[in-house]
Amino acid sequence: MLNIRFPGQSFQPQPPYPYNSKTTCTMVTNLSDTHSLLRVWMREIRDSEMQLDRARFRRNMERIGEIAAYELSKTLRFDEVTVQTPMGEALCDSLPQQPVIATILRAGIPLHQGLMNYFDHADAAFIAAYRKHNRDGSFEIEQQYLTSPDLDGRILIIADPMLATGASLSLAIEGMQENGKPEQIHIVTAIACTEGIDYILRRHPEVYIWTGDIDEELTARGYIVPGLGDAGDLSYGSKRQN
Ligand code: URA
Repeated sequence: MLNIRFPGQSFQPQPPYPYNSKTTCTMVTNLSDTHSLLRVWMREIRDSEMQLDRARFRRNMERIGEIAAYELSKTLRFDEVTVQTPMGEALCDSLPQQPVIATILRAGIPLHQGLMNYFDHADAAFIAAYRKHNRDGSFEIEQQYLTSPDLDGRILIIADPMLATGASLSLAIEGMQENGKPEQIHIVTAIACTEGIDYILRRHPEVYIWTGDIDEELTARGYIVPGLGDAGDLSYGSKRQN
């Protein structure tokens, strides 16, 4: 017998948004709401001494992606299947619809890998974007490249470690939507700031945000405080162009 369970109903949030991980129907899930190993890895990626170990930083980002994949999977639709074990029959779940996992290069690669580690058969999409800084400290987002499968009816998960102003993520969502209409859009991020969350939910009220933690402050140059610094540089080293 095929038995299908549906995730909780989504709703249109009004500020202040419900930052709550207790139910499956909130738009924003803070994975640090409960004490867990994830909070230990959050400490490690934030700690400027520990950040000197680049491999550890990338691996922790990957682990945050794995935890987010697991938590997010609880809201997906599963089919129940009966399998034959050597000892009898067991009722199990199978995932009928594989997600498309997108990331914004380059900082998103470790988080993306963590999601891909759990969604074994996911498709992938990539976006290249960077901040083009002006002399006065302001910046524009330049999107250079986007590759994606057809997104019609798919579950789209976009990995971006830092949800700061929300400008690059918003552009990424709009760019991805040119490739079809996803059934659901999930954002996975290591740290989100409240301003960025508000920016995204105002422009894209249908998205779900899964974040390792939420910080309150954003600098004029678009960095999250306390945050962790530059996630791309911490994973791959500093870059020449800015
Ligand atoms: N991107 C980063 O890498 N860090 C921030 O604090 C904001 C955006």
